[in-house]
Amino acid sequence: MQGLRGGDLGFVPTMGAFHEGHLSLMGAARGAHERVCVSLFVNPLQFGPGEDLSRYPRAEARDFELAESVGVDIMFAPGAGEMFSGEATRVYVPGLSERWEGAFRPGHFDGVATVVAKLFGIAGPATAYFGWKDLQQCLVIRRMVTDLSLPVKLEFLETIREEDGLAKSSRNAYLSPEERAVAPEIYATLREIADSLLGARAPLTKADLVLEHGKHRLEKCGFAVDYLELVDREEMEPLRTEGDAALIVAARLGTTRLIDNVRFTLGPMVAPSSEFGV
Ligand code: AMP
Repeated sequence: MQGLRGGDLGFVPTMGAFHEGHLSLMGAARGAHERVCVSLFVNPLQFGPGEDLSRYPRAEARDFELAESVGVDIMFAPGAGEMFSGEATRVYVPGLSERWEGAFRPGHFDGVATVVAKLFGIAGPATAYFGWKDLQQCLVIRRMVTDLSLPVKLEFLETIREEDGLAKSSRNAYLSPEERAVAPEIYATLREIADSLLGARAPLTKADLVLEHGKHRLEKCGFAVDYLELVDREEMEPLRTEGDAALIVAARLGTTRLIDNVRFTLGPMVAPSSEFGV
């Protein structure tokens, strides 16, 4: 097998069960690099006890075919025992990795950061590709790369969606037909909130109200909402001023947990009372 390291390598870390989201990352890497490597590793470190590690969708033979069909040169698919054993070193990104997904999935981002750092060490890529679908993951990895001065460039790509707006995800396979039918409400709700904020004269004065309204809308459709918040795109703290914003959501339908986000910039505000000259 051709060695992984060296040269002009574009790298796409994945957990497999490929869909168009994965393929768009591979396509971008293919278009920009001499060689493309995709890792396929269902990383046990990023699953908590009681999460879906054992039932996570696996389709390795199909994944290899799909990767080959979009021009991937190297598939790196180690077994769990080959990557970590015993008390391995962990990478921990404080603050950012403890909010939102990190709060609901303690240790999740330590697992993500640790495996991504190790994969960077193994592959030595010029550029690594990630999807904005997992916004907090992108920000955690960006922080890790900055803080540890890792010699890799990061590219983040837009979320690929189904026609009805549902973000493509390997976990969508868990949804029953009834759940699949309501799942697009997640993105529809995010869009409604974003449009309402962007169209308002004083969006930040109504942020709490529209977020509350969005939460009720999802709950009425049968979702259990873990969080729905307007945050900044650095620290992911709740945002109630202008700036680069993201609406983030995690919600459960039955036993399936879905996450999504939309990103936009909130510009200068018009004071709500100014039109009346008071
Ligand atoms: P995963 O296999 O779920 O760990 O995802 C591997 C990479 O694909 C991550 O960088 C994800 O953010 C990205 N990804 C997952 N779903 C999508 C999507 N719908 N659109 C774009 N990228 C995605």
